[in-house]
Amino acid sequence: MALRTLAAVTADLRAATEAAGPGLWSATHLSGAAPADAAFLELVQLSTGALAIWRSGEELLVAPVIEDGGRVRRADAGDGVFAALAGELGAVDTSSAATERTVGVDQTDESVIVGDAVVVKLLRRTRRGAQPGRDLPSHLAAVGFDETPTPIGSFTRDDALLASAAAYLPGAVDGWHWYVAIVERAALGERPWEDAEAQTAEMGALVARFQRALATPSAVLPRALGDANAETIERWRRAAVATLDDALELTDGDVHARLRAQEERARAVLDGFAAVQTTPVTRIHGDLHVGQILRVPDGSMFVSDLDGDPVAPVQERIAPGSPARDVASMACALDHAGRVVVRRHPETRDAIEAWIPRARRAFLAAHREALAADPSLFDERLLHPFAVAQEAHEFVYAARFQPGWTGVPDAALPAVLAWEGTV
Ligand code: ADP
Ligand code: MG
Repeated sequence: MALRTLAAVTADLRAATEAAGPGLWSATHLSGAAPADAAFLELVQLSTGALAIWRSGEELLVAPVIEDGGRVRRADAGDGVFAALAGELGAVDTSSAATERTVGVDQTDESVIVGDAVVVKLLRRTRRGAQPGRDLPSHLAAVGFDETPTPIGSFTRDDALLASAAAYLPGAVDGWHWYVAIVERAALGERPWEDAEAQTAEMGALVARFQRALATPSAVLPRALGDANAETIERWRRAAVATLDDALELTDGDVHARLRAQEERARAVLDGFAAVQTTPVTRIHGDLHVGQILRVPDGSMFVSDLDGDPVAPVQERIAPGSPARDVASMACALDHAGRVVVRRHPETRDAIEAWIPRARRAFLAAHREALAADPSLFDERLLHPFAVAQEAHEFVYAARFQPGWTGVPDAALPAVLAWEGTV
């Protein structure tokens, strides 16, 4: 995997970018507005356009920019800035203009497909030093895990990861599309439920293989597997409780009233963290949901987006975590995929309510089977607490970044709280 260190070059563009301010960074993306203290740091010149960097505390905010009619604006797919990055890595032939197209889905960062060969992903928020997107692709390659897009290289500036590149998977579709479509067709009676069940089981096995790879030592991560002590687990508990508090604070109206009515039960489940004194930890995905499972036309699946939780403080993204957290967030996502179908076809509600526990069981059974050589890696005691924490996180995420999503955790939480006994 190539590593390119980018050099800053002073140009007129620099003054124009500085004058334009961090509004250039915010634009219309899901990560929200730039923090008030964001200050211009520098401009990294590329063969076409540049990367503008602002600093907010320890974090760096990055945006692709280009000169256009004497003014500076954000660069989009088609402007050539992402192709210039790919060219830096020698990943595409830039002698002829490489095509650029956006991946075109809701994204936290900015991914552009260059020359139908490479996906260049710019990190909107980053920081100096360790980053999951820096060492996880190398680690997974070192232990022979190839069910993730092949890493091609990364770009750093002053020890901060700014962007990375991976091989484009032709025809790849993310699970919010391919998986939801399969569940939708089953719910509408167009395909047997067994199809949806088989695909769900395949994701369970894939996640288990991914977790075994994360727990396998490599030259990149020699101590891939460790133990969390009671103090660390107590930190997870406190973080989950704080997220639930935020969810209560950020919701209103009927959604808030329903959440309030379930608060006591949710807190009781979160107390489950306190019953665990020690548990295995590895590096984890940290933002695992069906949208991170890409499927290509031959049916193969890939785990993508190894940059960690995009809304977590950057320094927390590399902390070791419990594999149970990734299993829990996937189990919640199976539920959410069903809710998306109900939203489109309200008449499928009963069928989907019946499907959701079946999906969870299929996922968990396949996961257990594929993890059989390392069963202790998945601490089932933490599954339910992490799942409730995930739903709380979904309320917060929806309130901050995507209000239209609120109905999903609102519908899912009662079902997730009722998991006991049926997990
Ligand atoms: P984000 O952090 O913005 O979610 P992702 O890394 O998940 O970014 O990428 C966003 C989308 O881009 C994915 O959901 C998928 O549709 C597409 N994508 C990402 N990597 C690839 C790849 N290697 N090949 C094909 N499509 C990809
Ligand atoms: Mg993603």
